[in-house]
Parts: sequence; structure tokens; C-alpha cells
Amino acid sequence: MLVQRLRIGIALGLLAMVGSPGVQSSELPEKPASIYVSVYDDAGLGQQTIREAEEASSTIFAGAGIEVHWLNCGANGEAAQVSSDCSKAKFPDSLQLRFRRKAQGPGLRTDALGVSYLMESGDGCYSHVFVEPVERLRSRYSISLGTILGDVATHEIAHLLLGTNAHSVGGIMRPNWGVRELERANMGTLVFYREQREKMAARVSAGLRRNDQLMLAEKRVAIVGSSHGGEISINFTLDHPEMVEQLVLVGAVVGGMPYTRHFLERGDALGKPLEKGDITGAIAAAVKDKYLTAPGSDAAKKRMSEILSASPQDLTHPDLELPVKSALPRLGEIHIPTLLLVGDTDIPDVHAHAGAIEAGVPRARRVVISDTGHLMYLEKPTEFSRIVIEFLENQ
Ligand SMILES: [Zn+2]
Repeated sequence: MLVQRLRIGIALGLLAMVGSPGVQSSELPEKPASIYVSVYDDAGLGQQTIREAEEASSTIFAGAGIEVHWLNCGANGEAAQVSSDCSKAKFPDSLQLRFRRKAQGPGLRTDALGVSYLMESGDGCYSHVFVEPVERLRSRYSISLGTILGDVATHEIAHLLLGTNAHSVGGIMRPNWGVRELERANMGTLVFYREQREKMAARVSAGLRRNDQLMLAEKRVAIVGSSHGGEISINFTLDHPEMVEQLVLVGAVVGGMPYTRHFLERGDALGKPLEKGDITGAIAAAVKDKYLTAPGSDAAKKRMSEILSASPQDLTHPDLELPVKSALPRLGEIHIPTLLLVGDTDIPDVHAHAGAIEAGVPRARRVVISDTGHLMYLEKPTEFSRIVIEFLENQ
């Protein structure tokens, strides 16, 4: 079956902007990726045959870790199930499939069973399956029309997902089908090769991630990050300035700024009980720590103890630290309104980092909150929320 490449130069610049996510392709994802396919019955096949075709195709895609949701979008342009989703065409999870009677299309042979249209990027959304050529092929071997149409549809949809050069010498991606393929289709053994399954899973998950990133880019967000989370928020803002419109950093640190011995030794002391697996001791040490919560923040201390006791795995899981990025010299690149909140009893290093961030980020404003430590949102939740919401609404 033929793949036609549409030379449409759209979207490439935009997609290049987000880069290509590194995708592990050695294994199928644990959770199947979901895609939607809008189905149009322009050939008058009827609901039962269409359903059979969809089921046959669903089974093969399920074996490749892809869950297909079919939207039945009517016959000859008239929608049976009016759904606004029917018209959606977006790689990789909103695809379009038309069953037509005859092979039609520029450069198509009359015996073509189907066609898929790919853009230069190798992505595609539109496939056609031609019923008359499929029926002629079927006259050579008895197989239900729904099954063979489903297999041809699978081949064409897979072209959309696999990109260019998707054909193989055997299996469902074989370019020319004869009696052997019909026999296998009948037995349910006309399927994808392992490398095709892996490539499809990788391209689908990369495409889904790219769409998510683009959606985020269209809708800019405010990020509130606390402590090391503040460091990650700074890094994210530097990496994706187009996605972030406001930044709230609470007791944050910044990569590239050194820590004092005072800070490191206190961190080590807090972690000591965990080296012996003493979770209760670690929680007690955290509650007693004079920088995490200010003296007198008794309700916050109790709350911290409850939260840590309820999820001890948060204290004992293996460290999966992100590599430190040297954001300190790049703070001047952050041009969005930035609110820095620091508790007045927080550790000296956190105050030093807050000062450095304030000096580096042109639109940063630093606010010191009285009688709070590192966990001001536990200590003074009402005041914390009021200050953050006011900032987000007015900047
Ligand atoms: Zn093909």
C-alpha cells in the first residue's frame, strides 16, 4: 500500500522549538497509550462491518501497547454520532480514517487497498481504506469483510504512527498482500514485528509529550516552588521561559551558589537517624529543628509530624537527585514578576540564596515573613495564601 508524502511545510519550526524528547524504546510502556480514530463510512459498509473492523484493529494495536478509541462519525459526510471530536486531526492521538469504495487519489493504483498521508515530518493524521480492492482480494480466500478491513485499516493507521519507511518484508506492514496475508489475518496472526511495536510506542509517547508541552506553551502558568523545588522552578523557567509567567519562590535555593559548612552539617545531622533506619527519630529531629519551623509554631510541628508519619516512604526512598544546574549566573535572563518569600527563622544559607536571587532576577521582590521558618505554608497558611494570591492576581 502506498504512502503519499504531503509536502506541507507547517509546524516544523514550532515543533523543533521543544526539541526531541529522549524516548526509551526498548520496552513497551506499562500503560497503553490511548489514541482516538474518527471513522467515516463513505462506502456504506454499515455499522456491523465497521464494528468488526474496529475490533480486529483494536486487538492488533492492543498487542502493540496502543489502545484505540473509535469515534463513529457517520456515512457520506453525514454524522451518525455528532461529535465535535470527529473533526479533530492531530498527531498522534486524533487520527482520521475513511472507508471509501474505490481507490482514489493522485498516483494511486486502482488495486491499492488503502493510503495514508504523511507530512514531511513523517507524522500523519489521514488514512483511507478502499473497499472494492479489498473485496477483490477477498474473493481469493474466504475471510470476513470486517476482519480484513480492520487489518488493512491497521496497516494504514500504523503508517501514520510509524512515519516513513514503515514497510517490512512480512507481517502486517508488508506492502503487498496476497492469500498468505489473508490466511494470517483470519488466524489473527497478521501483526506487527517487535521493532515496529517499539518504534510506534516511542513515536506515540514522544508525540503525546510534545502536544502536552505545546499546550503548556500556549497557556502560560505561574509556578510556586519551595526549597529545592524553588531551585527546580528556576531551572524550568530558564529552560522554558515561554511557559512561565509568574514565579513564587518559597525558602528557595539556587543552583551554582555554594552552601556553608553550617548548612551542610545541619543537613547531615537531620539525616543521621535515617542511616540507622530510625524513622521516628528522624521525624523527631525534624520537629525539633529550629530552622524548619519557628519557635512557637506548635500546630505546624504537629502537622509536619503527622504528614511525615503518614508517608514514611518519603523519607526512605532512594535519592534520585537531579544534577545541579548552574542557574546563578543566568538569573538575569528571568524577566517575569518573581516573589521571594523567606521565613525570618529559616537557616542563614536560605536567606543568602534569597538575597542572591533577588539581586539576580530583575523583577524579584523579597518578602520576609515574621515568626516562620522554612515551612511557612504550614506555619501561617492563611497569611501565606493571601500574599501569594495577591501577587498572582496583581502582577
Ligand atoms: Zn503500506
